[in-house]
Amino acid sequence: VARLHGVSKRFGPLRVLHRINLEFERGKTTVILGPSGTGKSVMLKHIVGLLRPDQGEVFFNDVRVDHANEQQLVEMRKKIGFLFQMGALFDSMNVGQNIAFPLVEHTTLTKPQQNARVAQVLKQVGLSGLEQKMPAQLSGGQRKRVALARAVVLEPELILYDEPTTGLDPIRADVINELIIALNKELGISSIVVTHDMQSANKVADRMLLLYNGSIVCDGTPEQFRKSDNELVQRFIKGIA
Ligand code: ATP
Ligand code: MG
Repeated sequence: VARLHGVSKRFGPLRVLHRINLEFERGKTTVILGPSGTGKSVMLKHIVGLLRPDQGEVFFNDVRVDHANEQQLVEMRKKIGFLFQMGALFDSMNVGQNIAFPLVEHTTLTKPQQNARVAQVLKQVGLSGLEQKMPAQLSGGQRKRVALARAVVLEPELILYDEPTTGLDPIRADVINELIIALNKELGISSIVVTHDMQSANKVADRMLLLYNGSIVCDGTPEQFRKSDNELVQRFIKGIA
């Protein structure tokens, strides 16, 4: 569903991604692990065309993302849900308006149809009835779930989750884990999940990757990952990387 071919990215002297070759398969949940500052968010931003590589090619299905024009990016972003690390909501809009925004922009649904869809996704994230609340009135975990509701409202083909469970208590985190699994299993949505949370990773992953200093140092099933003799992988699993 998405593919990086020989992708390199620098910010000034800082080498963030180094000749990354990766293919994300349709219908799979791939978890990207790695220490802070290692380029995980930068990689996700390449997949939606928010950043362009210095070298290499980025594909979403058969569209060349790194060469896409505005019109192509708009079309593509209807099919990709992006849950930003910072869970950016529009502060001047209420919860219902935030979630309806992609429907207003990209669909011809009537207002009642939009409202019905908003109610449906709010229920999925466990926030039924909060349409009228303003983002400032929500807790951090609630904001995150509203952002997730907005990311899924168009039923995208691919969802990119940047730290979906960070800062949530274990019960709330598990609601998000279950939702990632349900979207994948019931709707066949492909997912790429960036996380520091090994428990969440173990729960949702079909495949795990460890990104370190701009390169992929381990790539395999969760089982292969746990059994890896790579020292970095073992340190990461034990939480000391
Ligand atoms: P974390 O786990 O803390 O979220 P990360 O792996 O997501 O970390 P990135 O956000 O991908 O890290 O950043 C990788 C590196 O690139 C960091 O050193 C960051 O400071 C740098 N960086 C990211 N975006 C930019 C930018 N737009 N301009 C300059 N440097 C950037
Ligand atoms: Mg990040």
